[in-house]
Amino acid sequence: MEDLTDVYNEIIMEHSMNSYNKKKLENADYTEIGHNPNCGDEITLELKLNGDIIEDMAFTGHGCAISQASTSIMIDTLKGKTIDEAKKIVKTFIEMIKRETTDEEQLKILEDAIAFKNVSNMPARVKCALLAWHTIEGILDGK
Ligand code: ZN
Repeated sequence: MEDLTDVYNEIIMEHSMNSYNKKKLENADYTEIGHNPNCGDEITLELKLNGDIIEDMAFTGHGCAISQASTSIMIDTLKGKTIDEAKKIVKTFIEMIKRETTDEEQLKILEDAIAFKNVSNMPARVKCALLAWHTIEGILDGK
């Protein structure tokens, strides 16, 4: 059986190397910039809504593999979700990284983003993993 950690690492590597979510959106409704000075990670998130559904999302920017992969996987996870679903997923991800939620059943809504679970053991990487998720909070909070 393949080690689950290897699968997670593969998911993170795949998204950090060549993300199809890294592009400009044609008609973004919201743009939010995220910055992690500890590591030098910088992202610009763009989001397009259709009613209360996240119709499309993309990002540009640069930074370490964790920050870039986390942004890309977050986009995959939140696309097509309602604002309320997205808020719940974002909250759960942040709680997973801070080890406030460890229940596997609750973490299932994170889909592939669960790959970042082990980052909670790497304090130096926590801000990298959370950058995109805190940035999207800035857009969703007023909704
Ligand atoms: Zn970083």
